[in-house]
Amino acid sequence: MYIGAFDIGGTKTIIALADENGKIYEKNQFVSDTKDCLRHLDHCCEEFRKILKNQGIDTDAVSAIGVNLPGIVNRKTGVLECAVFAGWYDIPVKEYLANSLQIEKIICENDVNSCAEGELRFGLGDRYQSFGWMTVSTGVGGAVVCDGKLIRGAHGFAGEFGHMKVEYEQAKQCPCGEYGCLEAHGSGTGLGRMISEHVANDPAFAAAFEKIGKEATGASCAELARNGNQTAIDIFESLGEYLGRGISYYANILDPEAVVIGGGVAASIDLILPGIRRAIERYTFEPMKQIEVVTTALGYEAALVGAIAIATTALERE
Ligand SMILES: [Zn+2]
Repeated sequence: MYIGAFDIGGTKTIIALADENGKIYEKNQFVSDTKDCLRHLDHCCEEFRKILKNQGIDTDAVSAIGVNLPGIVNRKTGVLECAVFAGWYDIPVKEYLANSLQIEKIICENDVNSCAEGELRFGLGDRYQSFGWMTVSTGVGGAVVCDGKLIRGAHGFAGEFGHMKVEYEQAKQCPCGEYGCLEAHGSGTGLGRMISEHVANDPAFAAAFEKIGKEATGASCAELARNGNQTAIDIFESLGEYLGRGISYYANILDPEAVVIGGGVAASIDLILPGIRRAIERYTFEPMKQIEVVTTALGYEAALVGAIAIATTALERE
């Protein structure tokens, strides 16, 4: 059975032809055209037709297409209601793609929900049936799988970890307008801010970056931490503490087996884990303290695998 997978992000897009077991036959990546969403969808269709032609496959042979979108998606109508980063609003993605490709079964989903569905079907789902999925990169996104099922909630927003309050005393402003959100503190953005503040106030720390000949970034700070620089170690522990506070709220409500972390910050899991575990130890009840915190089994293309998963799951439910 052939499945199309469109992973449309705010910065890049990957189009692929796959099967229901997650096998990818061919894929193509390009920059997302954030100026004009419909023109971008035309580009996606064009790339998909090219892949079908290369593989010698008719459109009729494609059973469904899973489409990830970087925002709030009405799963029933397939309308992208809002993608703030791209500046896209009220786009009838499902209808547009169905007309253009003449494929009826188009399943649109928020990209983080897709990651969680992908993990359940093709990743750590063989170990965990109840887990939270957290994308920790520039921001913090999340989704919840409970008892073997992706929980969407009333608006598809269940598991939006990013705007839980994790800091009250030194709360920084979040892109949502509020202060003290996990997204403002426990994200790549929060990490960058902590690094800049320390560089500005601590000449020895600034000198440590000069010594390794690198700009002060998350990656170079991780390098310093792994070389034993105590300030760098403390910064990652603070980042972990914030993530751990967020995870604790979630653990206390849903008692999951694990939290699965994806996104750029997952590469520093060894550095943030001590802070995460300390917060979980402090803020959860006894059985929840055992919650496992792991990185995704799906790697860099978790979302693309997720697009295959949402289409496959939708076909099974028919
Ligand atoms: Zn917020």
